[in-house]
Amino acid sequence: MPGDAAGRRGIESELQQAAPVLELRNLKLDYLTENRKTEVLRNLSFQIDSKADLSRGRKLAICGPSGSGKSTLLYILGGLLRPTSGSVSVFGQEIWSWDEARRARFRASSIGFVYQNFHLLPAWSVLDNVMLGADYVSAEQVPSLRERAMGLLDRLGLKGLEARTPSQLSGGQAQRVAIARALLMNPRIILADEPTGALDSATAQEIMTIFDELCDEGRTVILITHDEGVAQSCEQIIRLREGELDRIDEPDIQDSRSLSSAVEEVRWSTSPTKEALGLGGSGWSAVLQPLIWRRAWSSSWKLLRRNPSRNLLTLFGVAIGVAAVLSMITIGRFARERILESYDRLGVRSFRVWGYTNWNLPISTPLETYFREFKDEELAALTRLFPDLEHYSPTANFWGGQVSYGGRTVTEDVSMMGVNEHGLRLNELSLRSGRGISAIDVLERNAVCVIGSGVARELELTNLDFSNHQAEKPLLFIKTNRLNFACRVVGLLAEPKSASSRRGRVGQELILPHSYVRAIRGESPNSNEGDFNNVIFEVRPGADPQMLSKHVEQFFKQKYGVAGDFRASTNNRVLEQMQRFLEIFNGLLIGVAFVTLIVGATGVTNMILVSLGERLRELGLRRAVGAEPRDLRAMVIGESMALCGLAGLVGLVSSILLLHLVLYGVSLAFPQVKFVWTFDLLAISMSLISIVSVGIGSGLYPAVRAEQLDVVAALRAE
Ligand code: ADP
Ligand code: MG
Repeated sequence: MPGDAAGRRGIESELQQAAPVLELRNLKLDYLTENRKTEVLRNLSFQIDSKADLSRGRKLAICGPSGSGKSTLLYILGGLLRPTSGSVSVFGQEIWSWDEARRARFRASSIGFVYQNFHLLPAWSVLDNVMLGADYVSAEQVPSLRERAMGLLDRLGLKGLEARTPSQLSGGQAQRVAIARALLMNPRIILADEPTGALDSATAQEIMTIFDELCDEGRTVILITHDEGVAQSCEQIIRLREGELDRIDEPDIQDSRSLSSAVEEVRWSTSPTKEALGLGGSGWSAVLQPLIWRRAWSSSWKLLRRNPSRNLLTLFGVAIGVAAVLSMITIGRFARERILESYDRLGVRSFRVWGYTNWNLPISTPLETYFREFKDEELAALTRLFPDLEHYSPTANFWGGQVSYGGRTVTEDVSMMGVNEHGLRLNELSLRSGRGISAIDVLERNAVCVIGSGVARELELTNLDFSNHQAEKPLLFIKTNRLNFACRVVGLLAEPKSASSRRGRVGQELILPHSYVRAIRGESPNSNEGDFNNVIFEVRPGADPQMLSKHVEQFFKQKYGVAGDFRASTNNRVLEQMQRFLEIFNGLLIGVAFVTLIVGATGVTNMILVSLGERLRELGLRRAVGAEPRDLRAMVIGESMALCGLAGLVGLVSSILLLHLVLYGVSLAFPQVKFVWTFDLLAISMSLISIVSVGIGSGLYPAVRAEQLDVVAALRAE
């Protein structure tokens, strides 16, 4: 008794040659329609033994009035329709105790179906019709099956008709094509539902002769017939009436036919099986099998050809969607680059972050999160965290002081600022004479200062000569609400270019090393005068100051939570606004692209659903020749991937071309915009990802529908 090992070798070997051809016990089949039960087969029990001469097959007829359940019985025997109860065994095998995959292999290797109306696929050539079952074997097997198909067509007298379509055939020829299709995988059993019902008597006789030959080869033929003459030519006639066995007749057969000269030896256990061919892939992984792609391309091609205008329009949606994805990312990134370039060109590479204590904190706030001012260590750490931050200067602003020198006092408010060695440059202050604040000043907390032109005028220091390094520098005395200190003037600021750019009084600056400011103000708890409440950062060329400013702001917000109040902004409002607008615009485009893709995908889903409706017969036939439900599922996904892939690639390529055409046009219209070929890898890969997701997404629902196909209904559909 073959066990699991034999099962893996092949199903055919499991059919037992000497076991009864059919053994039915209490077979019942009910149809449930609108909660009404129709008993189609009631308690059918009989047994048909195999022949004593095992090299020849049986020829059985199933007869009975219309509606008596003959077709139903045939579908049950072929493993396509699950009985409600009872057992069926075919050559000793309880086919309904198997799982669907095993039954599918049984159909592929052991059963050939022939139908009354031939059930050829009208759009397919004769050869393609015969080769239907070859879709479910491995690719290496296909050439030999093609040869076999040609041989079968030749043998059935159809030589030279391979390329015709079914509409170009006579009834007899069509039925012979259907028989060739049934014989492709060399099945042990032929199940024929009124194979001569649609043929004239001469042609019917030809077909019956073919069936006789098939029996001589060792195949068992079970055919349904209304023709008593045909029935009488069979060894046994199973007569049904209203779903029950009427009787089994055994007519005397006068074997008048001449034995065919070239009979094909049907050997047990030689048919290729899916498992032997490595087609056992389970579930969705079947989608990855190359075989499915071959099939998907050919069936999508057929689908496109069937209704080109409607389907191309649908696919146009997917193409547009993909084009939208590509353009939105490319344009977005292109514009971003241009804006960054503008930042660079305008020299706006800096941004400022303000941070203040949040005085509205609840009393219970833990002390460690308290924020008073920016600390130097913290800023140094920040530049390590964000390598694109090149320089920074902590800045302490304070106002309201009196500055005196040589009996003169500046009466107007002076804007005092503690900075580091980058401070002057980052604050866009340039020197007229002398020097700025140096790193050594910062390190040594030198009591030095650089003064603005206004201060210099009022103190009559405008003509200071800094060339003599030995000369004593003028010592200024500064008095604010709380602080009293002195500093020596080491440099004079140039007259400001524009009055609008900075806050504080123009020309009224007094710049000090930040370490000196820290030293003189001490750690007074009562005042925040001289606190470092803002930092100016400079980013590396090419980096995005706006984005970094957001990151830095976020850094402090996260570190101090509600304890601090942080705000960041770049020094260019216009660009910042533009960038913000661009982000919103880009977000909108993403939305549009997304919606377009969804619409495109829905179109494809619909198109495949419609095509599945039109192809019910094909799907049913595929199941009959051995496809499993998951094979149909994979086929549909494959088709939708193939269609979306095609459309998506068209969209991708054409949008790249169109985009460059537009960019070229822009570069002609605005000479300052230079034309460059941009292949945005992100955009291209996002487009590819969206192609694949639309392909899978739009195929999912139809795939599940195909998987759940009611095979018998599909085969009965006219
Ligand atoms: P036969 O082939 O002997 O003419 P069938 O096996 O095709 O008969 O059908 C047997 C009975 O089952 C018929 O009465 C038919 O109306 C009924 N039947 C077939 N298919 C269905 C179905 N899907 N739902 C309900 N009844 C059905
Ligand atoms: Mg019928």
